[in-house]
Amino acid sequence: MRILLVEDEPRLQRSLARALREEGYAVDTADAGDDGLYKAETYDYDAILLDVMLPRLDGWQVLERLRRKKQTPVLMLTARDATRDRVRGLDTGADDYLVKPFDLTELLARLRALIRRAVGQASSRIEIRDLQIDTRARSVSRAGQSISLTAREYAILEYLALHRGEVVTRTALYEHLLDENDDTLSNLVDVHVFSIRKKLGADLITTRRGQGYCIEA
Ligand code: CA
Repeated sequence: MRILLVEDEPRLQRSLARALREEGYAVDTADAGDDGLYKAETYDYDAILLDVMLPRLDGWQVLERLRRKKQTPVLMLTARDATRDRVRGLDTGADDYLVKPFDLTELLARLRALIRRAVGQASSRIEIRDLQIDTRARSVSRAGQSISLTAREYAILEYLALHRGEVVTRTALYEHLLDENDDTLSNLVDVHVFSIRKKLGADLITTRRGQGYCIEA
């Protein structure tokens, strides 16, 4: 999952980006509204964390302009707990908001829920036949047997599972799993899929030649 973090306070941006990467997210950052809007329009993020008080364009302006083009899930980070702000946020098209200072655990939980809701998955547990994925614990089991995946393998499997029934192209996987600083050459999707199949069985992920990968719904 690839997240855009738009936050102008350097320390908060750094610590949030680090925490998100530790959770397995690919994270792009922007420290001004216009830069954030540009990235949000250019790339296909799974969710955007958007601060309200930003230089050049504020968070509301970014959200308003983004909503003319895209429905990427947006979690607003607001410093003020004013009812007016919340109403404005929801009216403008924010999917959720958190008031600063917030608890990191809560931010991560809301973010996971936001991403799941966007693909129509209400529960944090994904079950596909005998495959079970716990997106909170980031754990995987098949036929009751727990299976240990690397962070990258887990990210690919989770993405395919959330989009089950759809063919996911390699390009989409690269875009959603790698961030702007990633060295794509060392992150070949095919190699990870090969490894997932070795651990989970070859039947789970099918290859659609010339198109991409698919977990059947
Ligand atoms: Ca700010």
